[in-house]
Amino acid sequence: MSTAKKKLAEQRKKIPIVKGYLIENPSSEKGWRLFRFWCPHCRYYHQHGFPPAEEYNSRSKYEEHRAAHCTNMDSPFRDTGYFLRPFTAKELQET
Ligand SMILES: [Zn+2]
Repeated sequence: MSTAKKKLAEQRKKIPIVKGYLIENPSSEKGWRLFRFWCPHCRYYHQHGFPPAEEYNSRSKYEEHRAAHCTNMDSPFRDTGYFLRPFTAKELQET
């Protein structure tokens, strides 16, 4: 692995991954969905646009990085943003 790649991998490790679920978004013409998760820092749901299944599956999972929508100024997400990882309702219940 090149030094640049290693550095990037190290940076990624410091970025949290948030678990959420997907909602269909009928108003999106390109099949984009909505990703929603409960933010423990703000204590309410954050929502982000999320690519359609085919597009998501062909991408690196590290591409779904988003800037945090935190309104809590003390939230650590504000510094790093986070990676979105969708889970099914069943999977969320089990974790
Ligand atoms: Zn938040």
